[in-house]
Amino acid sequence: MPIALIRHALFAPKRPRRHLPAPTELKRSYDVVIVGGGGHGLAAAYYLARYHGIRRVAVLEKGYLASGNTARNTAVVRANYVTPGSVRFYAESVKLFENLSAELDFNILFSQRGQLTLAHTDAAMRGFRLRAEVNRRCGVESVMIGSGEIAKLVPTLNLVPAERYPVLGGLWHPPGGIVRHDAVAWGYARRAAERGVEIHQRTEVTAVHVDNGRVVAVQTNRGRVACGAVVQAVAGSSSLVAALAGLRLPIVTYPLQAMVTQPLKPFVDPLVSSPQFHVYISQTPRGDVVIGGGSDPYPLYGTRATLDLKESLIQHTIELFPCLAGAKLLRQWAGIADMTPDYSPIMGKTEVAGYYLDAGWGTWGFKATPICGKAMAELVATNETPGLIGAFGVDRFRTFRLVNEMGATAASH
Ligand SMILES: Cc1cc2nc3c(=O)[nH]c(=O)nc-3n(C[C@H](O)[C@H](O)[C@H](O)COP(=O)(O)OP(=O)(O)OC[C@H]3O[C@@H](n4cnc5c(N)ncnc54)[C@H](O)[C@@H]3O)c2cc1C
Repeated sequence: MPIALIRHALFAPKRPRRHLPAPTELKRSYDVVIVGGGGHGLAAAYYLARYHGIRRVAVLEKGYLASGNTARNTAVVRANYVTPGSVRFYAESVKLFENLSAELDFNILFSQRGQLTLAHTDAAMRGFRLRAEVNRRCGVESVMIGSGEIAKLVPTLNLVPAERYPVLGGLWHPPGGIVRHDAVAWGYARRAAERGVEIHQRTEVTAVHVDNGRVVAVQTNRGRVACGAVVQAVAGSSSLVAALAGLRLPIVTYPLQAMVTQPLKPFVDPLVSSPQFHVYISQTPRGDVVIGGGSDPYPLYGTRATLDLKESLIQHTIELFPCLAGAKLLRQWAGIADMTPDYSPIMGKTEVAGYYLDAGWGTWGFKATPICGKAMAELVATNETPGLIGAFGVDRFRTFRLVNEMGATAASH
């Protein structure tokens, strides 16, 4: 038997190294409580500890880390939105993603293979031209391309799908890509914990105590925790948790489904999305094809996968990629998406002093994880709203200054 094996059997540590410190007792008070241990909450905790020196922070998660939408999403990262404010915001996030593996010393497998949104009608072509122009003016690479260039980029794409909706052109966004989503959550969690942040899983916030217009504590299934500030980052439960603080949000909640095939030989490099067909796909480095679409048509708090959606996603995927007709589906799942009227998020202060919202992320919030965490940390540390998120306050629904991103969100996520 090789010596190295014997040495390993005798002397190697018996237990694998923990990625996170062992859970501690929940303290009676913290400077900041973050409700929600998804990517957003963990990122905010990390930036607070690393860049603002605020370390008496507790992340309270009712399930386990990233058990919400963070590890259910299809991991699309892009910045080709419609309004200049959104384009700049998401472009900052793409930049942070580009450096995130180094920042966290944790490989998040960011693969920038470009994102292509297909136009099947003249109206879509007009809309995409506008987007390309806004993107260009904001310094984001996005160009209109014709069907000839699309054929070169994606040779397996059917350019005349069922002759219903021929591909007229597309919006080509080279910086777009996919990321290993659970690695993002774990990377932030690990580095935040190293800096003293406490991460408490299976700890549900059940009430929020407000005194004289200011948040003073949260009630959990493990007792009361006093705090100076609360960041609410609970994605699909935003309205429910905000209601605990007496806040009413303009949010309607829908299930959002996705599915994945068996691993296949590489057949498509860029991410391809078709708003007309309500479908988008990407092929992971492992070869699986991840397929997603729009949210379910009825509001619901549920994560049931449905046959209806499976049928429509498969039909449209095969129209675009006939070569997938024989592929086997491995899994189908759902998350819960909090949709705002203008398809943009809500970030910022509320009428309860010290209670900050990171909500309304609908079908598109994963790509904002780094920049949202960074901006929320700055907001909590300074109580000043960073310019980059100024347009996304909840007040906009009272003052009718909406940030309409419906056209750029649709089925592209
Ligand atoms: C199928 C699907 C595909 C998607 N695809 C994309 C995509 O390609 N690109 C993109 O950018 N976005 C996408 N999204 C959206 C994206 O996943 C979310 O917007 C993002 O993950 C939100 O992150 P989060 O950290 O805010 O929320 P989550 O990861 O959901 O974390 C919130 C956490 O809060 C916890 N929680 C809730 N209530 C309480 C409580 N009372 N006390 C304590 N903890 C609580 C939950 O358990 C959960 O873990 C998709 C979503 C789904 C469902």
